[in-house]
Amino acid sequence: MKPRSRSFWYNIIHAGAYQASNPREFKDIKGINIAWMVLVAIQTVCMLQHIFNGFAFSAVLTGIFIGLLFIVHALMRYGYINAAKFSSILFINYNTVIMALMLGVRTHIIDFLLISAILPLYLFETRQWKMIFAGIAISIGPYAVYTFFRRELYPFGLPRAEQLVIGQTSAWVMVFCTAVLLYLMYYKNKNYECEAHKNEERLMAQKKLYEQILEQIPVGIVTFDKDLRYTYLNSAAVKDDTMRAWMLGKTNEEYFKSRNLDIQGAHEREKILYDAIAEKKCIEREETVTDRYGKVKTSIKGAAPVYTADKSELLTMIGYSLDITSIKEAERQVRDYAIELERRNEELQHFVYATSHDLKSPLRNISSHLQILQRRNSNKLDSDSQDLINYTVQSVKHLNQLINDIYQYSVADRNDKPAETVSLIKVVSTIINDHRSAIIERNAHVEYSNLPELKMAPSHISMVLTNLISNAIKYNQAEHPMVHVYSHESDTEFILTVADNGIGISEEYHRQIFEIFRRLHTADTYEGTGVGLAICKKIVENYSGRIWVESEPGKGSKFCFSLLKNMVSPDYYSISPPISDDLAATG
Ligand code: ADP
Repeated sequence: MKPRSRSFWYNIIHAGAYQASNPREFKDIKGINIAWMVLVAIQTVCMLQHIFNGFAFSAVLTGIFIGLLFIVHALMRYGYINAAKFSSILFINYNTVIMALMLGVRTHIIDFLLISAILPLYLFETRQWKMIFAGIAISIGPYAVYTFFRRELYPFGLPRAEQLVIGQTSAWVMVFCTAVLLYLMYYKNKNYECEAHKNEERLMAQKKLYEQILEQIPVGIVTFDKDLRYTYLNSAAVKDDTMRAWMLGKTNEEYFKSRNLDIQGAHEREKILYDAIAEKKCIEREETVTDRYGKVKTSIKGAAPVYTADKSELLTMIGYSLDITSIKEAERQVRDYAIELERRNEELQHFVYATSHDLKSPLRNISSHLQILQRRNSNKLDSDSQDLINYTVQSVKHLNQLINDIYQYSVADRNDKPAETVSLIKVVSTIINDHRSAIIERNAHVEYSNLPELKMAPSHISMVLTNLISNAIKYNQAEHPMVHVYSHESDTEFILTVADNGIGISEEYHRQIFEIFRRLHTADTYEGTGVGLAICKKIVENYSGRIWVESEPGKGSKFCFSLLKNMVSPDYYSISPPISDDLAATG
């Protein structure tokens, strides 16, 4: 794109402005340039006036002065004079000197008008002590000498007597103006010094604060100038104070040389800096090195280039280094623990499976042997012994159920099949079919409505609903137990409910019943192992859902659970097959 060309006046006013290091200097430079324009304009008028009046010599001198003004401006513009260090007063001083030399051909009126015109510039732009003194010396000196000791004026179209009056009056006005100027300059300068001092203090305090903050951060932070010499290092980067101070202004190469280290190391260290400069953005890398004590250390190294606002020039380079050795070590430990945990879990799973399996056949033997014993000796056994055998058989059955349930609980968070889209209508109707005899026996009625399709392992949703529906029939004393399975949805989840008209649960047990082995009744009243709801909870939570109950004693219960609409199924694991087909969930 073609750069936008600025106007002539813009270029004049901003000559040398690139040298400004802060907004204030920028304003100063603009002030100097405006003063320059004013002076050139006034001097041009003077020169024309001299030409009209036929004062050739004075016209030439004024021309020379204008030429000088242009030279100074050019020097400033092309950077030979640091414009930021100039003040408008310097121009005015030049002007005054030249005027003092030209007094022979001019009245004081022009000087007076000139200073009055420049007055605002003094007021708003003057703030350099040395310049003020130079200004006073140069301005007052020649005027005082000439006006008071050699009151001689030259033709300006007026009679000599009148010129004298004008000359004397203007001289006094001039003295008065200069005094006012002096006071204003002093006053302005004092304010400026005061302000500058305060600013400096504020900046220093801020710098200190930032440095303290940087010191507190447990990250090694360094900054470089554009030649990649260190300009700042915090103590996390270099602990030793003397070394830190020494490194300021040094390059990495100088540092490596001073420590008799391989220079290649310095180049490697700088690689990330050069890469960040090349890519013009912050770069971060993980680095693992073995230190001189043989310790393996990992750190995150970063380099961030800082550019001027227009991104044309690199101002500074920030480098940081965060030691993550301990984090890496912790990460490794967590990984090891996770592997170990997984292994133990697996072991436990196999243990539960093997135990369940191995316990089952002796239990079956005990039960059948007892029953054979009872049958063979039915006429020899008294009723107490018969009852005892019956109880034992019952207990064995309970134990068998408990083993099955514990096994189911242990595998409840495992997927035996990958997730698939499951129709809950199908799942519930299958459950009803499977439990037909219990439903008929209890004179119960199970209905369902508004059931969605879900993406999850079919065995999981089936197990949850089986447990809840069979509980709803079991913990029910109504003549016609009623069970209603339905769902409603929010933006993100489905909420499934199994409602019954059963015995209900008082509020204090609403949470407890989801704990494993937590039962509210003895086996005499309601059979069970206290594992069913714990299995439901484990499965639902494994799908990031929630399960809860809303119930009051005697008013039925509503068991609700939520499942996310876009559910992420837990990983699919192949697990050992169930122990035997008769291992149904407790319910
Ligand atoms: P189990 O039914 O084998 O005892 P659960 O974990 O399924 O084990 O249930 C735990 C307890 O919660 C039960 O003992 C019962 O007291 C109570 N409970 C479960 N479902 C219901 C229900 N629908 N109505 C009333 N109480 C229930």
